[in-house]
Amino acid sequence: MAKQEDQFKKVLSHAKEYGYVFQSSEIYDGLSAVYDYAQNGVELKKNIRDYWWKSMVQLHENIVGIDAAILMHPTTWKASGHVDAFNDPLIDNKDSKKRYRADVLIEDYCLKIEGKIEKEVKKAAKRFGDAFNKEEFLATNGRVKGYQEKIAAILARMGKSLENEDLADVKALIEELEIADPLTGSKNWTDVKQFNLMFGTKLGASAESAMDLYLRPETAQGIFVNFLNVQKTGRMKIPFGIAQTGKAFRNEIVARQFIFRMREFEQMEMQFFVKPGTQKEWYSTWKETRLQWHLSLGLGAENYRFHDHDKLAHYADAAADIEFKFPFGFKELEGIHSRTDFDLKAHEEHSGKKLQYFDHEENKSYVPYVVETSIGLDRMFLAVFSNSLQEEELENGTTRTVLKLPSVLAPVKAAILPLVKKDGLPEVARKIVADLKWDFNVAYDEKDAVGRRYRRQDANGTPFCITVDHDTLEDNMVTIRHRDTMIQQRVGISELKGIIDKEVNAKFWLQKK
Ligand code: ATP
Repeated sequence: MAKQEDQFKKVLSHAKEYGYVFQSSEIYDGLSAVYDYAQNGVELKKNIRDYWWKSMVQLHENIVGIDAAILMHPTTWKASGHVDAFNDPLIDNKDSKKRYRADVLIEDYCLKIEGKIEKEVKKAAKRFGDAFNKEEFLATNGRVKGYQEKIAAILARMGKSLENEDLADVKALIEELEIADPLTGSKNWTDVKQFNLMFGTKLGASAESAMDLYLRPETAQGIFVNFLNVQKTGRMKIPFGIAQTGKAFRNEIVARQFIFRMREFEQMEMQFFVKPGTQKEWYSTWKETRLQWHLSLGLGAENYRFHDHDKLAHYADAAADIEFKFPFGFKELEGIHSRTDFDLKAHEEHSGKKLQYFDHEENKSYVPYVVETSIGLDRMFLAVFSNSLQEEELENGTTRTVLKLPSVLAPVKAAILPLVKKDGLPEVARKIVADLKWDFNVAYDEKDAVGRRYRRQDANGTPFCITVDHDTLEDNMVTIRHRDTMIQQRVGISELKGIIDKEVNAKFWLQKK
């Protein structure tokens, strides 16, 4: 646990030190759970977005993109269910005045019991040595079974109470379990109340005519309300998809863990419209396709897992998360949901407009079913960044900090370094920069000894360093150093473009098996 926390702290400080992520309005002490992307962060974020867009839109003939506005007609959110049901159950501690999500307090309590189970397992593993069978132990040990039953009973009761809107029972459960404020230990709780996560705002100048609006809490609804416009003008035939990337806003209460849970964040969503009855197949197809996209980046297959939902949202007939091993454990990175015809039907009802597709093969109209893939761009950023940050022991006994970003995503693809700041070397290096910058984001760096410059570029995630030395003036050759292997090669200046392109081109990554 301590190791995980240490690693996470390193991620935070590295993100700041190397110009990836800053706290928003830091000079005013920041705004909680709101972050700014800095000079390198904005490039990494853009590259992730492009990588997603290329694989989802450019490579699929039947998927097109849109960019809908953040502000939408308020009835949208009534129809989607967000006005009535996009709530978190909150509880305040009267002594500390701190606010918590009631379900998270209860889940954290269950996690502690799980910790006890793990302790029992460790103890038993020590006692039985090689003969230890974990599965059997978990299924038969009386104490462990007692803990498991306790967890199941607590979660079942909480689930039922939340479903029935019985918030008094959620509070009763917190009191019965004697859950205390994690910060102060106080058990002096208020009642549990539902809190809507949407940010409200107003449209219009005068108080009387102002209209209540919401900042969109997801990008999906912008796609649903445009479904027929896109289908007709793009002459799209089912099955087809509409993709969108853009900001979403949620007034999250448990906003912590850096850019994992933010109040303003960016989503990359795709709604795939299919013939009713075929949604199960498309759901499996998209689960697999999305997992392959993640695996193409090479962050390690062991860092991903599916979590299939037992309890489904009101609009879904199947749902799964792709979870990633963040520095604080496996957590949701992307959701794949079979959303049925819930959204389009709801918009038909609320708008009075038909949102149907005429199927020429079947010679009839119907409301399509929808399979959605929805990933948080900021969470993807955190997954890539935290996984790539590594400390390596080198052969000479020193360590280096290296940000092994997949080179297709790296903000700067190559740094051009004149060995010394004289003898005409900077001029040659500048010429290489001037040539390569049309194709790649490259940097020029002449400060400090070349070894230090290599370290700096390693920590920055730059896949290539290109060094210009005195021989270059004679033979037009430079030394190219690879970030991950630290291997150095002597190559012709004219070969540089081809070498870099082969490594950073999305085609190479997306076709990798
Ligand atoms: P969680 O359970 O973590 O709150 P969710 O199930 O509410 O997430 P969805 O509504 O399915 O999330 O949103 C789709 C994706 O958007 C998530 O998989 C996640 O990557 C991203 N996302 C959701 N909320 C946030 C947030 N507050 N900050 C950053 N990314 C978010």
